[in-house]
Amino acid sequence: MSADFRCPSCGKKLFSYEPRFRKYGKITANCKSCGALYADPRCYELALGGIPGDEYLLGPYISVIAIGALIVWRGVYIMGQKQLGVMEEMQWFLPSAFLVIGGLMVIGGIIGAILLKTGIKAKRLEKKLEESKLRLRDPVYVNELRSLGFPVDERM
Ligand SMILES: [Zn+2]
Repeated sequence: MSADFRCPSCGKKLFSYEPRFRKYGKITANCKSCGALYADPRCYELALGGIPGDEYLLGPYISVIAIGALIVWRGVYIMGQKQLGVMEEMQWFLPSAFLVIGGLMVIGGIIGAILLKTGIKAKRLEKKLEESKLRLRDPVYVNELRSLGFPVDERM
């Protein structure tokens, strides 16, 4: 479910993005077309809002593992079936794609869950938070953020 982002000043479409995903980094940017300052909806400055609580949830990893496992299971199932409208030489393609994609999801989900449970993920987030605090030491950036309505604390 991707959304289009348009420049609030000139209305030019600047990019499409996936609202579910966030990127930790600098929020402000300038429109390529008119040069106006805007807040990038994809970006999140950790020092402003703190580390989002959902970063510490195990559920999303379990979901990815479960969906990946279903895709693998589906791949194994169609492996034994002839797919209509698919050339003989290409019969292996779809089941293999299912196995690879599902397998990667299962592995990725397990790795994510391990990083979370061992506290490695928390350490990485703390490091990103420190990087964010450093960015907020730049008075130019702080002024940009304030002009866009982000409340930046004096002591940061
Ligand atoms: Zn613009």
